[in-house]
Amino acid sequence: MRDLTLVRRIERDGTRVTGVTVEDLRTHEQEFVPADLVVVAADAFRSPSLPWASGIRPRALGRYLTEHHVVIGTVALDGERMSRLVTDDELGRELARRAQNPADPVGAVNRIPFSEPDHPISLQVMYAENPPFPLDPEHPAAGNRWGYVNMGYGVRKHPRVEDGVRFDDDELDYRALPNMTIEYALTDSEDEEIEFATGMLRRAGNALGTFVADPRLLPNGSSLHYMGTMRMGEADDDTSVADPYSRVWGYENLVVGGNGLIPTANTMNPTLTSVALAVRGARQAVEDLTHASA
Ligand SMILES: Cc1cc2nc3c(=O)[nH]c(=O)nc-3n(C[C@H](O)[C@H](O)[C@H](O)COP(=O)(O)OP(=O)(O)OC[C@H]3O[C@@H](n4cnc5c(N)ncnc54)[C@H](O)[C@@H]3O)c2cc1C
Repeated sequence: MRDLTLVRRIERDGTRVTGVTVEDLRTHEQEFVPADLVVVAADAFRSPSLPWASGIRPRALGRYLTEHHVVIGTVALDGERMSRLVTDDELGRELARRAQNPADPVGAVNRIPFSEPDHPISLQVMYAENPPFPLDPEHPAAGNRWGYVNMGYGVRKHPRVEDGVRFDDDELDYRALPNMTIEYALTDSEDEEIEFATGMLRRAGNALGTFVADPRLLPNGSSLHYMGTMRMGEADDDTSVADPYSRVWGYENLVVGGNGLIPTANTMNPTLTSVALAVRGARQAVEDLTHASA
């Protein structure tokens, strides 16, 4: 492990990777680090930029960018309806318990998961005593004793080759790596799913209380869950970068990791999926290395 060190290039001899060139950001000294196996796990944008900068450019590299879109709203819970479920005493005890740890802004998180075909979206409901933004004290729902829920539906972005990150060989970024331009658009079918999610959110929120922030679609990229830019696939057919064990097609010892590998649309946090893929890839890597050294 090296702190303040940037990997600049993946070095190779034909289809075999020999190691990486790293730069110490304090001294700007560069050094070659030899390796039997290189794993690139530098997030869904910077991971593909490294092979690109190193002349490793499968056609799918950086393409098929996805995230999940987020339709969100905030509701002040309706006291009359909530008091059918929770007594005033119970609410008082819960508020007292929560007051012991006022630094924690969210009291509870619940989810309704994705399921096809009936619920092709996933819902996250976060309960808190206060709204997640300053609410005008004059607002009729300000200081609501029953609290608020911030509710968001995650909506699929279906992978398309048109969506992705384009790397520029001539224009470099602040680290002198290829500059990035995001190319990304929603399709009609995605707009339809977003409309469906917005309607569902409106229905769910109205069942719980009064909206203090109306259902709305957050701007592209707001999920912070970027995927697909180094997607795995069953075959080396230009629609994927890596095989099902995260090994870059056409290279003996180059492996990729992280959310960029996720090849399909999802509607929720991707990290656990990436961890599962990494475990599978790591087991295979151990086998490959053992086999190579035998
Ligand atoms: C604010 C926020 C909240 C989130 N909340 C959740 C959540 O609740 N649940 C969830 O599942 N996911 C969440 N995510 C997503 C989660 O953080 C990512 O899925 C996860 O971090 C991806 O792991 P990774 O190892 O692929 O990439 P990263 O964690 O981004 O790690 C990549 C690392 O590579 C380094 N790097 C990049 N380029 C180079 C280079 N050239 N040389 C050397 N190092 C380099 C970076 O500095 C970084 O340390 C959240 C993300 C954000 C931003």
